[in-house]
Amino acid sequence: MSANPNYKAELVGVFGHPVAENPTVVMEEAGFQALGLNWRYLTIEVLPEDLAAAMRGMRAFNMKGINLTIPHKVEVLKYLDEVKPDAALMGAVNTVVRIGDKLVGENTDGKGFMRALTQDAKVNPKGKKVLVLGAGGAARSITVELALAGAQQITIVNRSVERGKGLTELINTKTPAKASFAAWQGRYAIQGDTDILVNATSIGLPPLSDEKPEIDYATIRPGMVVCDVIPAPSTPFLKEAQERGAKSVDGLGMLVYQGAIGFKLWTGLEAPVKAMYQALAKAFNI
Ligand code: NDP
Repeated sequence: MSANPNYKAELVGVFGHPVAENPTVVMEEAGFQALGLNWRYLTIEVLPEDLAAAMRGMRAFNMKGINLTIPHKVEVLKYLDEVKPDAALMGAVNTVVRIGDKLVGENTDGKGFMRALTQDAKVNPKGKKVLVLGAGGAARSITVELALAGAQQITIVNRSVERGKGLTELINTKTPAKASFAAWQGRYAIQGDTDILVNATSIGLPPLSDEKPEIDYATIRPGMVVCDVIPAPSTPFLKEAQERGAKSVDGLGMLVYQGAIGFKLWTGLEAPVKAMYQALAKAFNI
């Protein structure tokens, strides 16, 4: 006798506004297919005023989890039963995991960055001097993870002084790392003892993909590790760094890894990273 049929799919997805161009569905669905899982990833437009109803809805639909993107990453904290310590430090959640009846908040952005840095580039940030350009959401998650992983000194360079100082204070008061803020005026010169330089600004994001952060590129020295959050295999920023003998880490790896970490949190299975990367590369025409 054959087993009873099971037509029920497990549901995950993303809430955002605007959300139509969010590419996460491409890699998550590729991952489900590669492992033969009957799971669906739904890209769902949720207005800010509808987030409470949407979170009740995801509980009612028994969804296994949800990603949050602009503008919900901070607001969603109100609707969770538990928030993991690093996400609580950042004050932002991009992945919710349902564990029994509980909704647990995680932040995988900085973890995806860390995996690209440590696994692909084989760089351990422990004891290193880091310079981060930017102080927005991506910079916050990367900086907190670097600090928790033992980075010794973190310099934050940001256009808006208030935002930059806020992140610096967070690192100094809530993590073991030492941070300092430097105002971004003119072509910023990278300190010679910097080990890891990160562009965590949105400069270089399509359609402005020819743009690069205004720094003195002559101050990038061979041996520096230079990372970009822009999800592309290369950017003008990374090209400048490579020309000066620096080791580069692109933002596409970060994007795939943060999705892979979410995949494992939801399904409990090791994510098929290669299949996920290939699907994303195809969607991005790489
Ligand atoms: P936010 O809007 O929170 O922050 C943007 C940051 O960029 C701020 O520090 C802002 O400075 C700075 N910035 C923007 N334009 C300029 C400029 N012209 N000159 C100087 N500084 C500038 O965005 P997010 O942090 O959420 O995202 C930043 C980037 O990270 C995006 O491109 C996003 O695609 C990417 N990202 C990539 C991920 C991945 O997995 N690869 C994951 C998450 C994000 P100020 O504070 O002065 O406004």
